[in-house]
Amino acid sequence: MKPVTHLLSLILIVASLSYTQRVVIKAGRLIDPKSGNILQNQTIIIEGGRILSVGSGTTIPADASVIDLAQKTVLPGLIDCHTHMLLQPEDERGFPPVISKSQAFRTIQGVAGAKKDLEAGFTTVRDLDSEGAGFADVALRDAINKGIVPGPRMLVSTFALTITAGHMNLTGLNPDIQLPDPAALADSRDAMVAEIRRQVKYGADWIKLYATGTLRHVDPVTLEPVNQVSLEDVQTVVNEAKRWRKDVAAHAYGGIGAKNSVLGGVRSIEHGMLLDDEILKLMVERGTFWCPTIGTYIPEADEEMTDMRRRIIARHKETFQKAMKMGVKIAFGTDVGAYEHGTSVREFLKMEEYGMKPVDALRCATTRAAELLRMEKDLGTVEAGKFADIIAVDGNPLENIGALKNVVFVMKEGKVYKDTR
Ligand SMILES: [Zn+2]
Repeated sequence: MKPVTHLLSLILIVASLSYTQRVVIKAGRLIDPKSGNILQNQTIIIEGGRILSVGSGTTIPADASVIDLAQKTVLPGLIDCHTHMLLQPEDERGFPPVISKSQAFRTIQGVAGAKKDLEAGFTTVRDLDSEGAGFADVALRDAINKGIVPGPRMLVSTFALTITAGHMNLTGLNPDIQLPDPAALADSRDAMVAEIRRQVKYGADWIKLYATGTLRHVDPVTLEPVNQVSLEDVQTVVNEAKRWRKDVAAHAYGGIGAKNSVLGGVRSIEHGMLLDDEILKLMVERGTFWCPTIGTYIPEADEEMTDMRRRIIARHKETFQKAMKMGVKIAFGTDVGAYEHGTSVREFLKMEEYGMKPVDALRCATTRAAELLRMEKDLGTVEAGKFADIIAVDGNPLENIGALKNVVFVMKEGKVYKDTR
């Protein structure tokens, strides 16, 4: 090859490498969750999965492909900090899925669920426990990242840590039969450390700890949950997680288990409907996040509504209102999977019903959630440098949060996954 031709082909190669198709979104209204403002007629320029610039009066590059959302309200992709992609509503009733379903079947259901949640506007989720589907959450996360199947960006926790007879440990079964456990049994601190290492080895992004029992463990008179951890247990879990640069989410309804979780340094408390003033105050002081998951405790079927459930729901509402006043960092989390994938918007409606302003509810699922995940640089707003995770709706969610029910456009990392304008 002659030197001149050689040089020419080199220039062409370099030029083609540096060329990435730009995408422009014309946003009629753009919500900035940080300020709570709606910006009019914004031009969002996207390149290589990230936002290059946002502004008004910007010249649209001649070669860009244009998406016209001039008649829509555009906002950052939503973040759900408490999901179960491998869980389906029917798994909550009848035979536990570890007995009635193969992990392969549950994974296929998870693939379908992930698509629905993405199309509902959730571009990132923290998936807190595969609930007996093993490391299928890691597989789903990786398949989504590789573009094999559509779904939200997932941060996964694989197995949750629990104790024998505790939450997610099946009871009432024949002790003569060896059955798989939905969570990881760790009855000593050594066992907890070893289990965390195993989970990290196989791909966990977060560590999930069952610090209290579940509904069946709540005292029907005092509503005191069963405590599953000492302060030393939590410190051991948090320190081991820290070694691998992971954070800990604690399932804790309230009482000693929740207090030990906060004092032991977990990053978020899950559910927390029975948190008292002392613990809420500790959470404010220590910056502990709270994912209330209100909707999941409100039964869809009337026959599931017991007197105890009614009292728990009332306490949940009271705790939510106190936490808001006291300034607890509330992050959006739904427990979706326990109910139909793709319907998580119901949590926003509950938050609003319990007195939260729509803009604050939206912050819980954007800026605040990004902070919980330590991903503020990448997520939570439509700003230059961040992932192009962008959704659009009709109407104005800041006036009526229910507008989020009809997400008409979903882009994740610059790729369009839904467009029903
Ligand atoms: Zn959950």
